[in-house]
Amino acid sequence: MIDIQGLNKSFGNQRVLKDLTLQIPAGRATGLVGPNGSGKTTLIKNMLGLVKPDDGTIEIDGVQLNGYEEYRKKIGYMPQMARYPENMRVQEMINFIKKIRGVESANEQHFIETFDLQPELNKPLRELSGGTRQKVGATLALMFDSELLILDEPTAGLDPKASYRFKQLILDEKKRGKTILLTTHIMSEVEVMADYIIFIVEGEIRYHGSTEDLIKMKKEQRLEGAVAKMMEEVAA
Ligand code: ADP
Repeated sequence: MIDIQGLNKSFGNQRVLKDLTLQIPAGRATGLVGPNGSGKTTLIKNMLGLVKPDDGTIEIDGVQLNGYEEYRKKIGYMPQMARYPENMRVQEMINFIKKIRGVESANEQHFIETFDLQPELNKPLRELSGGTRQKVGATLALMFDSELLILDEPTAGLDPKASYRFKQLILDEKKRGKTILLTTHIMSEVEVMADYIIFIVEGEIRYHGSTEDLIKMKKEQRLEGAVAKMMEEVAA
């Protein structure tokens, strides 16, 4: 379980995360949802130790995460917009990340096949289309069999075939007991992949619980309608 207590983060005068306290259950998938600029990426970056909180703690199974370098090796992270060394080729990048993680072998072949990446392996990263970059990002995040997967808008830019395959992969990972945190603006994806949803607005949690309970609470058939209602309530 991921336990976040009293997390605060400001950039200059702007309070981006406001005293966030929440628990993310292990072995389940949680969707992190909210309008643009609500603090989702900042929360994720705090979890990865890429951004330092002003105060508060993040613990996984009792181990403090923020600032604890070693734990990052247990996380598979897919950033929203990956910045790569652009002259590096895809295969070189895969090898480079393996070296950084200090592992000899990883399961990249499975993902290269799933995403039809074979013809791209010798291309420099700067030549790749947006969707192909996403596929490379997904491969780099998933190939280490990490117990925690953090995926920031993972399907953005993927074509329907790749997006479908990606969702199947995530469902497989979930079956295998992985803890998954993902952000997306596509509610049908949260419905398919996630069991829980965290709805965050201007750095504050407005809902945190099961997707099913939220749909029932808002008397809707689908998650999209329930989240739209929540957004209208926030705006009112
Ligand atoms: P989301 O992922 O929900 O779209 P972000 O966490 O990216 O939101 O951003 C939340 C707010 O924090 C935005 O107003 C953004 O401009 C601001 N912000 C994010 N990162 C920085 C930074 N490094 N410096 C200054 N402001 C930032």
